[in-house]
Amino acid sequence: MIAVKDAIEITLDEAAPRGVEEVELKNASGYILAEDIFSDIDVPPFEKSSMDGYAFKAADCQNKLTTLDVVGSIPAGVYPDFEVEHGQAAKIMTGAPLPQGADSVQMVEKTQAIGENKVKILEPVSLGKNVARKSEVIKADSKVLSKGVFISPAVAGALATVGMARVSIFKRPEVGILVTGDELVEVAQKPKAGQIRSSNGYSLYSQVVDSGALPELFGIVPDNIEYLTKSIELGLQKDVLLISGGVSMGDYDFVEEVMLEHGVKIFYDKVNIKPGKPTVFGRTSEALVFGLPGNPVSASTIFEIIVRPALRKMMGFSNYHSVKMEATLEKDYATNTKRENYHPAWTFMKDNSFYTSPIQSRGSADVVAFANSNSYLITTKGKQEFNSGETIEVILRPEFWKTM
Ligand code: AMP
Ligand code: MG
Repeated sequence: MIAVKDAIEITLDEAAPRGVEEVELKNASGYILAEDIFSDIDVPPFEKSSMDGYAFKAADCQNKLTTLDVVGSIPAGVYPDFEVEHGQAAKIMTGAPLPQGADSVQMVEKTQAIGENKVKILEPVSLGKNVARKSEVIKADSKVLSKGVFISPAVAGALATVGMARVSIFKRPEVGILVTGDELVEVAQKPKAGQIRSSNGYSLYSQVVDSGALPELFGIVPDNIEYLTKSIELGLQKDVLLISGGVSMGDYDFVEEVMLEHGVKIFYDKVNIKPGKPTVFGRTSEALVFGLPGNPVSASTIFEIIVRPALRKMMGFSNYHSVKMEATLEKDYATNTKRENYHPAWTFMKDNSFYTSPIQSRGSADVVAFANSNSYLITTKGKQEFNSGETIEVILRPEFWKTM
């Protein structure tokens, strides 16, 4: 049995980006940029007004209440074909190119139109006021963004500005999901005697989607060596294969055996974690394979603690570890496990501080307790009883951020 920390590190050592793919800009959000980006143009490409107002020579308007002749009006998108001479102004819209001869803009609020053809400038402006200089944001051919950057909405905007209709990102891993168990039936079916609905496929699928990787959910596989052999062979064509169930000590737990038959090199098959001890991790030359325990809370917890960081590393993230932080316990909590313990908890913010409350749970099959949680509180074997008001370690699941 190995420590949780070691299981995570061993797994991360095997997880590496699988190359680069090119996607449409709108599909690049949330991934990691796999190329340095240079601009094909100056931004702005021309001198432009940053206000709706009047463009003129600042030197003409050093006194209050100067009146100028209005010689034209320039909407955004139109390049003016006239010049502004001394004593003249052009009406100009935000984003429109500055006309020849003008060097400054006064905002419309600080002007007063007089009839059709004159304007009174109510306040003088300094030279260059309200004018965006050509290339003041980006110079053509300069580097705008570096490989390794997370493509946030802001980055997507910058990529669009410099013409990146298609973008290279680190490849999104394809993740196959196999659920095993003779007792399992599909969601739409009513379980007969001895059967249960398979839920792991759906929770794991949803976790893979959330991670940004590309899931494929295969059908339910019975606890039968022949079927398992065929399914695992198919699954190993993916970058990552998640297999739920069949990794414990039961008479029908064949998953590890079939992995070995397929030449999967096994790195560990027991982790000192609760829930999720019987977790198997291995790899072929092409694929990483996780044998996850069948109990729903165990399978999802191993995904959060071990699989998600590996997927993030494969997608090129430089911060791929789960973030542990501290929260104040809102209720007393006690456990008697000797293993590193990840207990479903509800963490929330109050007065700018994090508080957490353990969810009462009937264990690793308690899908309802788990569904009512958004985080884990973590205990190690050192201390077993915690009082309300004490500080405790927590890991927030992504749903914490999505629902706060
Ligand atoms: P196993 O790891 O195959 O021994 O399964 C452990 C427990 O998890 C058993 O009670 C199974 O019935 C249950 N289980 C296994 N697979 C699933 C699944 N896909 N969905 C829900 N429960 C499952
Ligand atoms: Mg089973």
